[in-house]
Amino acid sequence: MHRGKKIILLSHCILNVNSKVYGIGNYEGSLEELMIPLIQKGYGFIQLPCPELLSCGLKRWGQVKDQYETPYFYKHCKSLLAPIIDQVLDYSKNGYKIVSCIGIDRSPSCGVDITCRAHNWGREIDESFSVKDVTSALNWVEEKGVFMEVFEKLLLENDLKINFLAIDESNPKASVEKILKELE
Ligand code: SF4
Repeated sequence: MHRGKKIILLSHCILNVNSKVYGIGNYEGSLEELMIPLIQKGYGFIQLPCPELLSCGLKRWGQVKDQYETPYFYKHCKSLLAPIIDQVLDYSKNGYKIVSCIGIDRSPSCGVDITCRAHNWGREIDESFSVKDVTSALNWVEEKGVFMEVFEKLLLENDLKINFLAIDESNPKASVEKILKELE
């Protein structure tokens, strides 16, 4: 029977760029430079839900982690991830290997090693609004986005361990090479 029993979890937009905030996106549909080699290596995939699309829709603004750190968004992430945890438990119990979870660095939700913060984001956009003030307050910080933070916590609570990797939006080519090397 042809079954590799090795599975990778993917942030939703790796397979569907259309879920991203409008204006962001380095590929047309799926990140083929990553996906084609991984398919050829015999991995199966679980596409994680996009927590931002499923709360704010396609017309959302690009936000920072500070704006998603609400009890409501944490609860939303937890409920989206509950069926994923069930699948990871079931696969693991039955001898399948969940090799990795690939997130999206710099995302406020799916960042693995880097996410974005700003103390002054979230306000009415009127004549006093300054794009310069807002963009100059943006910081890249070395921590997980909210969705990945919740996922890591749920994995720990269930005695599960998964290796987290990430595509870095600022340099997708280099991160694809790094991931493929790690998953050889
Ligand atoms: S990085 Fe996460 S939240 Fe952002 S579009 Fe991709 S799946 Fe959705």
